[in-house]
Amino acid sequence: MELPSKILEQAVEQLGTLPGVGKRTALRYALHLLRQDELEVRDMCDALLRLKTDLHRCRCCHNVSDTEVCPLCSSDKRQRGLVCVVENVQDVMALENTQQYRGLYHVLGGVISPIDGVGVNDIEIASLLRRVEQGNPCPVEEVILALPTTMEGDTTGFYISRQLRPLGVKITTLARGVAIGDNLEFADEVTLGRSIVGRIPFEE
Ligand SMILES: [Zn+2]
Repeated sequence: MELPSKILEQAVEQLGTLPGVGKRTALRYALHLLRQDELEVRDMCDALLRLKTDLHRCRCCHNVSDTEVCPLCSSDKRQRGLVCVVENVQDVMALENTQQYRGLYHVLGGVISPIDGVGVNDIEIASLLRRVEQGNPCPVEEVILALPTTMEGDTTGFYISRQLRPLGVKITTLARGVAIGDNLEFADEVTLGRSIVGRIPFEE
């Protein structure tokens, strides 16, 4: 597709780097932005830029947050002895949508995957162990492993449970309402809600 402008071409190229956006869609977005007021486009650019400049990771659970400690971790309405370990931020949102879970979270930011070069130290495992070991900011009674039911998710759960066992904390995992091979974010709310309520001891 030959474009009549280098500037347009660059915009299309940038928009095309977004997941699921092909060149045609990128062009449609670029032409849409071209028709908008400058102020509207500036507002959009500002909002995107703030993702990098102003957004934090919660010091405690590593969820995205506008503050140093996220609203979930600072809420006194949550069961603070429960920590649910998930792969990513979308999983927290999925579990929160079920309205069945009242504990806290720990976002790993990935799962162990030798093929993708993701090792133990590339995700937030050490901070989880510290959190349980030191009972900081609150004592942890139960760790719920809510990881994807994939090889990588299983490997990660296995590794974490091995590290946690000596600390004497209760370790559970989701009941198998979640289909094997599914990411949590794609499970429907009822299934996911039941899975966390009916969680089971984690078996190595
Ligand atoms: Zn938090």
